[in-house]
Amino acid sequence: MLYGALEAGGTKMVCAVGNEKGEILDRTVIETETPEITMPKLIEWFGKHEIQAIGIASFGPLDLQKGSKTYGYITSTPKLEWQNYDITGTLKNALGVPAGLDTDVNGALLGEMTWGSAKGLTDAVYITIGTGIGGGVLSNGKLVHGMLHPELGHMYIPKHPYDDFTGVCPYHGSCFEGLASGPAIRSRWGAPGQELADNEKVWDLEAYYIAEAITAIMMVISPQRFILGGGVMKQEQLFPLIRHYVQQMTAGYLQTKELIEIDDYIVPSRLKDNQGVLGALKLAIDAARVNG
Ligand code: ZN
Repeated sequence: MLYGALEAGGTKMVCAVGNEKGEILDRTVIETETPEITMPKLIEWFGKHEIQAIGIASFGPLDLQKGSKTYGYITSTPKLEWQNYDITGTLKNALGVPAGLDTDVNGALLGEMTWGSAKGLTDAVYITIGTGIGGGVLSNGKLVHGMLHPELGHMYIPKHPYDDFTGVCPYHGSCFEGLASGPAIRSRWGAPGQELADNEKVWDLEAYYIAEAITAIMMVISPQRFILGGGVMKQEQLFPLIRHYVQQMTAGYLQTKELIEIDDYIVPSRLKDNQGVLGALKLAIDAARVNG
């Protein structure tokens, strides 16, 4: 059986068709323009395949409250054309198949839970650090939604004592995303991260902020592993620095195997940037099961 998987992003829509084993059999990328332009292209591409269900891991914020009148809508996104848009219902009706939906980051974490670095864990956190910062949370075996869904990128973290950068978040200035996203790096240092790969100061401060966020999340929900993805995390020199700062910030207070074996605690994704689309595939498989 085949399933459709859509990783809906603010700049591109990654579309795939795959099976229960997590094998991607066909894929394409469609630019995210307006719903009027983009949705017919998605429907045409998925419509060519015999899919049993579609899974959507989308940018948000999203209404994920089952029973809500606007369930499945993208809600207050800064991408104005997509505000209050029923992405789930539109695809479900046009394709005539059940649909599963979650946030892009919960989707990525679901991919990791099913085929990647969070397999077998009951508690894990996936953080993507790129154009924005977002995080998916697995707690006690379930993806966390709660009031809306976690927005880890917008948590407040203490500023480094020597940092006078005001931050780039349009809502909060110097929240985690405001201080440590790709646009924050570009604005603070005057060049994109890829061009600053050799500048140690850039990555030391970046790692410091990521470690602050990880430490705060760790103290609140005690995950068994952190998985880091996104464009900024392509700078692999960040990993040892982040682990060093996390150990420094926790200051020996938590005596756990995970923090001793920290190389296995704070890890990159093993799914080679397919975690989002694989999570969407799992959402489709689950949607077919519920409706089948
Ligand atoms: Zn913010």
